[in-house]
Amino acid sequence: MRTFNVTNPATGTNIGAAPDANADDARAAIERSIAAFPRWKAKTAFERGELLRRWRDLILKHEDAIARLMTSEMGKPITESRGEVKYAAGFVDWYAEEGKRAYGDIIQSHVATKRLLATRQPVGPVYAVTPWNFPAAMVTRKVAPALAAGCTVVLKPAEQSPLTAIRLAELWVEAGGDADVFQVITTGDPAAVSEPFFADARVRKLTFTGSTEVGKVLYAQAARTVKRVSLELGGHAPFLVFEDADIASAVAQVMATKFRNAGQTCVCANRIYVHASIRDAFVAQMATAVQALRVGDPLNEATQVGPLVDRAGLEKVAGHVADAVAKGARVAVGGQSGPGLFFAPTLLVDVAAGMRILDEETFGPVAPVVTFTVEAEAVAAANDTPYGLAAYLWTRDLGRAFRVAEALDYGIVGVNDGLPATPHAPFGGVKASGVGREGGRWGLEEYLDVKYVSIALP
Ligand code: NAD
Repeated sequence: MRTFNVTNPATGTNIGAAPDANADDARAAIERSIAAFPRWKAKTAFERGELLRRWRDLILKHEDAIARLMTSEMGKPITESRGEVKYAAGFVDWYAEEGKRAYGDIIQSHVATKRLLATRQPVGPVYAVTPWNFPAAMVTRKVAPALAAGCTVVLKPAEQSPLTAIRLAELWVEAGGDADVFQVITTGDPAAVSEPFFADARVRKLTFTGSTEVGKVLYAQAARTVKRVSLELGGHAPFLVFEDADIASAVAQVMATKFRNAGQTCVCANRIYVHASIRDAFVAQMATAVQALRVGDPLNEATQVGPLVDRAGLEKVAGHVADAVAKGARVAVGGQSGPGLFFAPTLLVDVAAGMRILDEETFGPVAPVVTFTVEAEAVAAANDTPYGLAAYLWTRDLGRAFRVAEALDYGIVGVNDGLPATPHAPFGGVKASGVGREGGRWGLEEYLDVKYVSIALP
């Protein structure tokens, strides 16, 4: 079988190879998925839950090895990778139970001789496409609810991080899971491999996490066979720090959300709006924190910031910094590109409208600070984007916390909380950030259809 190489972004060395599937392989995977669906659907939610629990146990048992694999293929610091394995297992844990709660309803009848039921049933075979930035959690956040609901899944991971997904599928089989119920298909040509899924009306659902650009293309493709669709797309998170904020807490949390995974998360703070009256204190504290970040080999336990995933990612980050500086921003800390795919953790100040960094997702370790004076001005600036995934606000005023949280046009709002994501809460965006929700009971709904049964009594 043909393969493609997987490279460690920190060193440039080859760490392995993954099968390079083509459209014929995709068609074969679809047939297996369709054949497996009736037998998987026929199992009880309790039986499915039991298998999911065994899968969770194996993921946790192999936490360190999976974490090392993930760090080697996409460069996230090893301590974060271990955290991600736990987070990934958390979705499996949650849905092992939640599948049992796919309740229906008995509806009051308008006719004495009728009984009306609304029941739930699995959508059908699912095609899942995931990104490289959370190679384990983005897999389980889709696969665990789909399996719990009774759907079969073929998952196509990103070219940069196929090995983690392959390992998760191996563990599913080791747990006793049916290899045709959850399949992973890896390829260097995602468009060609995806085509048969879009052409086949028996594949009932597309679930995608990745960029808005690719998400729009797949949304249109899915329309051809009218599939159910869930899209978790790009973000451009604003982080608002009001004059009554606890500055030390805001700095600690902006550091956590901004520099996690070298800034390569969909919910990381991309635009930091700070009230003019506290701007100098905030910037001084943040500069100290950015300077103290330990950059280096992500397999080293002490490393806090690793490389960017690839050359295109690095060039985008460098381009955003150069554009901002050319338009009047000042580099307070960092700013240098290299060595290799590393970009120095960077603090930019005097950032203003018209700079690319305020319009596009940076996906890198660059924190741009903008100053504001009026609450309404900050909220308007925060909402002035096509994206609507996550937003953050820092204040100790309860009225302001509610007012601003309600005014922000986002799917997720962190109030004095820079890390709101957790397996049992709804995660997802509005506007160009996507359609649908993952996590919690909302994540299960995405894989269930409502079936209405009206019974006329004889
Ligand atoms: P990407 O859109 O380039 O790729 C995502 C996936 O789509 C990969 O598996 C890729 O192989 C596949 N793909 C690309 N072109 C395709 C095509 N023509 N047909 C079929 N599949 C195709 O995104 P990425 O660079 O891997 O991930 C980063 C992006 O993901 C960022 O924009 C980030 O914000 C977003 N993201 C969003 C969430 C969320 O929950 N909203 C979570 C993580 C990442």
